[in-house]
Amino acid sequence: ITEYAGKDVAVYGLGRTGLAAARALKAGKARVHAWDDSEDTRAKAEAAGIPLSDLNKRDWQSFAALVLSPGIPYRFPQPHRLVRLAQMTNVPVVGDMELFARAVQQLPERGRPKVIGITGTNGKSTTTALIGHILKECGMDARIGGNIGTGVLDMAPLHANAYYVLELSSYQLDLVKSLHCDVAVMLNVSPDHLDRHGGMKGYVDAKRRIFLNQQPGDTAVIAVDDTITQTLAMDLAARGGVRVTQVSSEFALGRGVSAVNGNLFDSLSGNAIRVGDLNEAPALPGRHNHQNAAAAYAACRALGIEPARINAAIQTFPGLAHRMEQVGEIDGVRFVNDSKATNAQAAEQALRAYPRVYWIAGGVPKAEGIGPLNSLFNRVAKAYLIGDAADAFARTIENVVPFEKSGTLEKAVSSAFRDARASGEENPIVLLSPACASFDQFKDFEARGDAFRHIVEDLGGNALVKV
Ligand code: ADP
Repeated sequence: ITEYAGKDVAVYGLGRTGLAAARALKAGKARVHAWDDSEDTRAKAEAAGIPLSDLNKRDWQSFAALVLSPGIPYRFPQPHRLVRLAQMTNVPVVGDMELFARAVQQLPERGRPKVIGITGTNGKSTTTALIGHILKECGMDARIGGNIGTGVLDMAPLHANAYYVLELSSYQLDLVKSLHCDVAVMLNVSPDHLDRHGGMKGYVDAKRRIFLNQQPGDTAVIAVDDTITQTLAMDLAARGGVRVTQVSSEFALGRGVSAVNGNLFDSLSGNAIRVGDLNEAPALPGRHNHQNAAAAYAACRALGIEPARINAAIQTFPGLAHRMEQVGEIDGVRFVNDSKATNAQAAEQALRAYPRVYWIAGGVPKAEGIGPLNSLFNRVAKAYLIGDAADAFARTIENVVPFEKSGTLEKAVSSAFRDARASGEENPIVLLSPACASFDQFKDFEARGDAFRHIVEDLGGNALVKV
């Protein structure tokens, strides 16, 4: 990123993406002034050679930009103090995705890599990883990052023949102006992170920025299985200028890509061709994953890949950790780690996948709680409630579902294992699908899922000793 060569740039928030930004700016000869409120995080940044400076105490007039980490409130619930300082001194606020997008735009048109952006409330990571996998299987130079894995500014320098497959969160999209996706994928939209977007309208407005700057020849892939995405697809098609490809895992579409009951149909040309059976793809179980696969298929078709090759690659997708990932089986009890399910919609998919579960839920609850899941409560043999949400969730399910307030994940796993084993059922499922954020008890959902796996591993050890 050479845009700020010789200039002073403030970088606030030094998590994975912020660090990547600071490194890329420094490599591009900017004078970086980086800060994070956490002393630990600052220490890590310093060890990585990033120059620190307390941005609360700086004269802001000298900064050419504030590079803001997507985790920090930009507009809602209220702008962070440093964002206000930047605004008051007319310092532009930018995000890592914006810097990446500008760097792409600066390349001569013929030397620009392809950018494939993926957003949606749920399924972003799976679909991003799946598209990356398909492209790689087809021999292309695919690079996966953004909100998943590698921060986008760690993906530089840019390679003209590469395909940048980027997961885009609503926070990142909120901060882009120059992003241009050759293929933009919108999976689904349901209420999430509303506090950070000032309500549903702000959230949808952020999400739709993925289509910003798309031109004729570009493709917008939209899964039309909810009313919001249906409206987005209609608006975009009416506006014209970009090819809109509809996909669905609910309806057979006259023109588009559908995956009803796992039957993958391509009717992009108006004639329906059966491409394959998604039920044979081991890492993509459930209707929600069929939505992800249909969207990935449509994105790869837009890039010119043959249907049969895409289908073959879908079948070999290894899946992602922490998403309906089976982490162990002890005495016939199966343990499924779906720590990534941080809201009710995501947990719903997991509950739908099994007729009966011993369900571990809780953490930092979202506004909707678990009320929206009530039609699935009959699948829950017993609930084990952890974290801040335990009392509220208990009130939602009392008199409907047997439960215990386990408090910690350790206690929840050991109680669930005890009950599942004693049930006499064949292969009972202990499911961690918390419907909550993790930060009351864990650093992030990965740490929560890893803890679950370790607890299960320890249980396995103990069980073996007892046998
Ligand atoms: P994201 O990156 O958007 O959070 P992931 O692919 O990591 O999405 O999946 C997160 C959770 O959402 C998983 O637990 C999964 O069960 C659920 N999920 C995945 N894809 C979808 C989808 N298309 N619709 C609804 N829920 C989904």
